[in-house]
Amino acid sequence: MKAVIIREHGDYDRLLFEELPRPAPGPLEVLVRVKACGVNHLDTWVRRGVPGHKFPLPLIPGSDAAGVVEAVGPGVTNARPGEEVVVAPGFSCGVCAECARGDDNLCRGFGIFGESRNGGCAEFVLAPARNCLEKPANLSFAEAAAMPLVFLTAWHMLVARARLRAGMDVLVHAAGSGVGSAAIQVAKLHGARVIATAGSDAKVAKARELGADLAVNYQTEDFARAVKDFTGRRGVDVAIDHVGGPTVSRTLAALAKGGALVTCGATAGFALETDLRPIFFKSISILGSTMGSLAEVQQVMALAGRGQLKPVIHRVLPLEEVREAHRMLADREVFGKVVLTL
Ligand code: ZN
Repeated sequence: MKAVIIREHGDYDRLLFEELPRPAPGPLEVLVRVKACGVNHLDTWVRRGVPGHKFPLPLIPGSDAAGVVEAVGPGVTNARPGEEVVVAPGFSCGVCAECARGDDNLCRGFGIFGESRNGGCAEFVLAPARNCLEKPANLSFAEAAAMPLVFLTAWHMLVARARLRAGMDVLVHAAGSGVGSAAIQVAKLHGARVIATAGSDAKVAKARELGADLAVNYQTEDFARAVKDFTGRRGVDVAIDHVGGPTVSRTLAALAKGGALVTCGATAGFALETDLRPIFFKSISILGSTMGSLAEVQQVMALAGRGQLKPVIHRVLPLEEVREAHRMLADREVFGKVVLTL
């Protein structure tokens, strides 16, 4: 099969195109013929490498695959050849205490396609049967592949971690990112008011179109001040952050008393240097979040099937353009997702 493979970390040219053996499904496994695969920031970390973290190279990248069931292994009851499916991006053991209570992302065996096992940037991907979800009929393969990882991440951050309720105010950083464009929609769906930040006036306008009540260009305006003005000096109840680095202190300043900062990434830097005083004086919570449960993926895809959550696609490119897709993400050219098709 045709596949993109990473054998060594590095620049875009480390995304190699090779002919690899087609995997065969074992017990409770499904072989999916990939039609589309979403590109996430995670892909760029896998390509570049992360100091202190070991990825199982060589590895086929791609966490969000959608396609058609090609073959099923023994014991599979929920998928048949020819069915259109979306592969849930996270997998876990399915039997430990964490999995049993629906906290699959806390499973010691939790992993992500394209990060801890071969992903969807190939003609075929092998997946546990329970990861194969029915593709919503109203979505194309590319639209379906634009959804799972970022909507799961945004949903888990807002609903599971921050316990978002109607009437809350939410700050969403980097509205043009996959997680940001998903978080705006998830927050609005729950009846929250949304303040979004973005790095250009064009992205600010798109954030408004997606439903943000206020959108701020953080290059030209202090977002913490804009938040305070918009909320009558109170601040937001929840801030969604995957930027990290120097913005964190300003984000803490934008929180209301009792507010929570939820972090799922740090594209601008891993180190956190901040004044602890606002954290205890304002009773602030700092919550970490990675991915979410299989049940949550099912929930966001069901809402997508009803049109209540919508994929935001910046560009659809053929798989052969995977290097260009990585470049677009790295250069922050995108509003929403880049999806590769086969
Ligand atoms: Zn488990």
